[in-house]
Amino acid sequence: MLSKANSIEELLESCPKNQTIGDNLVRAWSKINSSKYKNILCSISGGSDSDVMLDIVWRCDKDNKVTYVWFDTGLEYQATKDHLKYLEEKYNIEIHPYKAIKPIPSSCKTYGQPFISKQVSEFIQRLQAHNFKWEDEDFDILMKRYPKCKSALEWWCNVKGSGSSFNISRNKYLKEFMIANPPTFKISNKCCKYAKKDVAHKILREGIILCDYYNVKFDLQIIGIRKAEGGARATAYKSCFDETDTGCDNYRPLFWYRDSDKIDYERAYFVEHSGCYTEYGLKRTGCAGCPFGRDFEYELEVIQKYEPKLFKAVNNIFGESYEYTRRYRDFCKQMKEKERNHNEMCK
Ligand code: SF4
Repeated sequence: MLSKANSIEELLESCPKNQTIGDNLVRAWSKINSSKYKNILCSISGGSDSDVMLDIVWRCDKDNKVTYVWFDTGLEYQATKDHLKYLEEKYNIEIHPYKAIKPIPSSCKTYGQPFISKQVSEFIQRLQAHNFKWEDEDFDILMKRYPKCKSALEWWCNVKGSGSSFNISRNKYLKEFMIANPPTFKISNKCCKYAKKDVAHKILREGIILCDYYNVKFDLQIIGIRKAEGGARATAYKSCFDETDTGCDNYRPLFWYRDSDKIDYERAYFVEHSGCYTEYGLKRTGCAGCPFGRDFEYELEVIQKYEPKLFKAVNNIFGESYEYTRRYRDFCKQMKEKERNHNEMCK
């Protein structure tokens, strides 16, 4: 049975010789035990970063102020659900499931399927809403035809400076591909909004009901973002802590952890990860088979092998997006081949 330290000095006795981990434990202890915070929310995903974060938070939470929640997107690996049970037993805590505003399957059915990335899906969705015909015309001409669709047309026409992520050219040959192969299904990133983003806002706004009657509102939110993970999620933040005027501050205990710090921590405190990593060999967890994943083909193989029911489900939900992505990838290969042949001939 794990036991908690009574003081930061006691906690540091077992800390490995690693400055980042030591500094971080001191900071986590002071944030979590600060008299400013009465109710703390910590969202657990079942992923490997979340496992390390949970261990830190649990060790520092000497007065049990932290409520743990898990956002159930409606498309989770059984291995993740099993791991959450394991964590509940290991730490003797309850991880409260919190349902999506709209589960992923119904979001995708209503609004469309995710394709390539959040941003690409957002712009395609806007163009589709205006019945765009995937035309290769100048921005000014298209603005006259589709006057209420400016930012998506700017993306389509590469109006922003070169290299901007607000240009379609950021995804090589995507424009050429879409002109030759207009999408015949709805594309959207709304599943992220209703299964993740808005859910996190909702829980902070409304709190959660515990023990069937006790409505808890939170004054500190803890999430497992690491700067080293890169991407929009991590680069949106500058440090591990923000004070806000919404009544709920944000703390990211893992923010400064590099991969090597994470490994040191896992070894020192015997942190074990879910079967998604240890059995299935996945590099990430989260929504099963999300088409945004670069390695979604590998993920599909894994899902088929280990979670066949889920394999059927993800193909029903995202099947058209998988197919369209495959065709886009083939198109890119052909275009590269053509470019190579052309360059050879010009030598
Ligand atoms: S990560 Fe993928 S599957 Fe999950 S909510 Fe976002 S777009 Fe949808």
